[in-house]
Amino acid sequence: MKFAHNDTFPYPFVDEIFHDEDGVGYALRMAQANALSFHQLATFLASPGHCYLPYCSAPALGFMFGGTPEFIARALVRRHFEAGITVADFAEHRFSRPKHVRQSRPQICPFCLLERGHARASWSVTMMCCCTEHKVCLIDQCACGRSISWRRRSLLVCECGRSLGDTTPVHLATKGALAICSQIEYLLGPAHFRLHSSLDSDLAIFDDVSVDTFLRVVWALGHSPCQSRRGTQHILHAIPTPSEAMLTADEAYNRIKHLLSRRNVASLHRWTHQLISIHEEAVTLPDQRLLSSILARITPRPPVARRIDRNGPVQSSLFEE
Ligand SMILES: [Zn+2]
Ligand SMILES: [Zn+2]
Repeated sequence: MKFAHNDTFPYPFVDEIFHDEDGVGYALRMAQANALSFHQLATFLASPGHCYLPYCSAPALGFMFGGTPEFIARALVRRHFEAGITVADFAEHRFSRPKHVRQSRPQICPFCLLERGHARASWSVTMMCCCTEHKVCLIDQCACGRSISWRRRSLLVCECGRSLGDTTPVHLATKGALAICSQIEYLLGPAHFRLHSSLDSDLAIFDDVSVDTFLRVVWALGHSPCQSRRGTQHILHAIPTPSEAMLTADEAYNRIKHLLSRRNVASLHRWTHQLISIHEEAVTLPDQRLLSSILARITPRPPVARRIDRNGPVQSSLFEE
């Protein structure tokens, strides 16, 4: 095995990556255990200014810190071009929009970090704005005002020296955002899955869809369709703060409830254009079926999208009648 820098040798304190741990979080945890700084680690594995560790550093991290390279690799974001767009692979899922993965701008639950001692991979999903265990909105800022970065002193200590464990989240999680975040955990898979609570049973129609399609539907329904026409594109493409994402998730949850209630569903007609786009790019059959069902419900005459499954069940069958 050959690495770019000869500082990548096996270090004395080794550990496996946790099944739900973020790959960069693992690197920071192990660097701290071996008295290395993130700056040193980034210098060894990428460049001195790197705020994130690239996907290709997984073998070196495994060699240095004893984790299984395949497990570390799947907990690191891998961005690449496919069919003309940049997609991100992370935690064994495909994300077709870069804004859905935070990567170099981590968010944390200070309570989880104190209790577990590791950063959860699910926090790297932008819309994962709440901790479903502690029922708080995640934070991406220290009390000193700095954005939380992977280039901090240690997992629990900001560059200013404050313990992030002492930073109390300002916002309690809202019911809608908690339901959305529970569904994201469920869709991310076994490492993040906890039993569905009765709170989010309304989202069961999304149980078979890809996490990518779910996030795109939440993102679309959480914003007003007018925002894309009023020169506010930057809002739609920038990475939101956890509290902004919580508002989006809450809006989306209320609109999904509205959709399920069947009352005045035509008012959701404004989102048809966005939902057709998601439908056209949907890859899996369950994703296509769900989008067809939603479109059939909100449009009097559903437009025929490119990839409607001709052999699939009748539209609207995903909703209980
Ligand atoms: Zn927590
Ligand atoms: Zn600070």
